[in-house]
Amino acid sequence: MQRYSSALLQPWADSARKIGLTDIAFTDHDRYHTGIDFDEIERLRERNPDMRIRAGIELDNDPIHSAAGRKWIEKHWDKLDFVLGSVHFLDRADQMFDSVPDGAVQFDGHDVDAIYADYFRRVREMAATGLVDCLAHLDLIKIHGHRPQAEIGGIVYETLDFVRGRDLAIELSTAGWRKPVNELYPGDPIVDLAIAKGIPFTVASDAHSHAQLGENFPRLAQKMTAFGVREVCIFEKHKRVMRAVGTESLL
Ligand SMILES: [Zn+2]
Repeated sequence: MQRYSSALLQPWADSARKIGLTDIAFTDHDRYHTGIDFDEIERLRERNPDMRIRAGIELDNDPIHSAAGRKWIEKHWDKLDFVLGSVHFLDRADQMFDSVPDGAVQFDGHDVDAIYADYFRRVREMAATGLVDCLAHLDLIKIHGHRPQAEIGGIVYETLDFVRGRDLAIELSTAGWRKPVNELYPGDPIVDLAIAKGIPFTVASDAHSHAQLGENFPRLAQKMTAFGVREVCIFEKHKRVMRAVGTESLL
């Protein structure tokens, strides 16, 4: 855990400016919530008036830490612009299945179809918490390259219906391109289905250092053009605002 300070945060604003991003959100994992300092975010906003800086967090299903994370989110809901929901844990409490490469052992000897079904059930549980605005890396379960044998369209369809019913957004995240699966989160069929259902998208790089901020955004912009996605959303105090792609230099 790193405590928020101007030395920690300013490089993020500098990196964003360098690549033409005018609107960014901090979304640390909830297990690091004790490091988040809203006063430091406010000072960062004051020092960088040319930029919109959103206070967010990523709530996951960590069986050990996320109970405290949920409490913290409830307590600070009004100060947060944006809460991402995600699933990083299957049956093992001590290891995220998406640790690279170690998490891949959680698939050994298991039926990949059953793992996919279990994963998307957990995604729906996260969507049902009422504590999230948007779901992160919706098909993270593919990270190590495991693909289902059976048609999983039904499970995905049901999950996206659930997301739509809760009026949540989903991420288009370039992080998948730097993982073994080497594919956008989510994959093309899910993006198509989400468009058909009218689910709004955010754009994300899931940067774990300021150097990764906006990674592969030009490539994502090309893909969005191919999909016909012309709007993305941003959140301000959990209120969703649609922005035309390009006009706000989001990409
Ligand atoms: Zn995540």
